Amino acid sequence: MIPRLKPAINAAELLAALRPDGLDEIRLFEEDFAQLMGQKHAVAFPYGRTGLIYLLTALGLKGKEIICPAYTCVVVPHAIVYSGSTPVFIDCAPDGFNMDLDLAGKSITGNTGAIVATSIFGYPVDLDRIKAIQEKHPQIKIIQDCAHSFAAEWKGRPVQKQGEAAIFGLNISKLLTSIFGGMVTTDSDKLYHDLKQLRDRHLTVSDWKKTLRRLLYFLSLYPTFWEPLYGLVNRLERSGILNHFTQYYDDAKIDMPDDYRLQMSSLEAKIGRCNIHKYRKILAARRVAAKIYFTGLPNLPEFQLPPEIDGATYSHFVVQVPDRKQWMEYGLKKGIQLGQLIEYNIPEMESYGSHPRGSYPLSAKYSRSTINLPVYGGEEVAKSVVRIVKKHIQ
Ligand SMILES: *Cc1c(COP(=O)(O)O)cnc(C)c1O
Repeated sequence: MIPRLKPAINAAELLAALRPDGLDEIRLFEEDFAQLMGQKHAVAFPYGRTGLIYLLTALGLKGKEIICPAYTCVVVPHAIVYSGSTPVFIDCAPDGFNMDLDLAGKSITGNTGAIVATSIFGYPVDLDRIKAIQEKHPQIKIIQDCAHSFAAEWKGRPVQKQGEAAIFGLNISKLLTSIFGGMVTTDSDKLYHDLKQLRDRHLTVSDWKKTLRRLLYFLSLYPTFWEPLYGLVNRLERSGILNHFTQYYDDAKIDMPDDYRLQMSSLEAKIGRCNIHKYRKILAARRVAAKIYFTGLPNLPEFQLPPEIDGATYSHFVVQVPDRKQWMEYGLKKGIQLGQLIEYNIPEMESYGSHPRGSYPLSAKYSRSTINLPVYGGEEVAKSVVRIVKKHIQ
């Protein structure tokens, strides 16, 4: 079975997890992360969403309108609400999955505090348009959501540096992982100090119970991604037993995990720091896989390939198909687990006011019609996938 995702964890992460803690593991992880992103500072959080809550707070944005994509991870508007602000949703641009920045510009009001510019699936957000918005509205803060786009580049410029700060998610489905965890990076000394002070004042220091929970989760993951066992795990997932790993939202509720204010554990920092060393390889494997898909697969109305963009990380390779369920079942029969991310249109959710169908047409369309081909495995996995997928198209 070819799984839909596979974190780059192996014996190195296992050894890192099991070695005794050094003096300041979290600070070391932050320093290495900031260096990888070419930024002055990084601040670690238990989740990316917690980082966003405190970033909005540090920027003094309580009670503001925060512009964000309609087609993004639901934890983003949740964090905006938790920070005391209101999300304003924007549909995707006609030429891709990212938010329509013209629409975003038109939605700015006197009470807009920030724009969460997301490079979804690793497609770099258009930095020239972001810059134009910054010049026209200097009071509005730009926050880069880089959860899918660690160091993606727009015309050679890294997306994370264009704005006040960038947020990253580090769970096992992301490009880099510390098992759970999140980061905020910035080049501003003042924002760094404010953010760190807020974190240390409002978040509880991790305890042995959290460390033990994370260690057990990590140890259970470890064999899960071992090839011979993956078929079994997939059966478990389908039967619903593993739902608590994968189903992280409830349509009607705006909430956070119980431990969203319990700081990152040093265990996670040790694993994350180890994972950083692999980033160049992780990114290269995805770009190779994407290239093989672009050259090996047909681009048809019933199998529509995503845009090919230099500088994208291809955290997900997203294809539009008329019947997603049929594709996913075919994949399972042939030994490939296809993903379906992002499978919801946030403004349609009950918790966000159930906007009428049709008000976010592209986000709605993508939420119902996309599948993800596996990208973590470079050439080898991508070639097997091409062979199997082509049979179903012809
Ligand atoms: C994963 C993700 C985040 C952060 O998620 P956490 O689970 O809170 O770490 C933020 N934005 C997007 C687009 C994501 O996919």
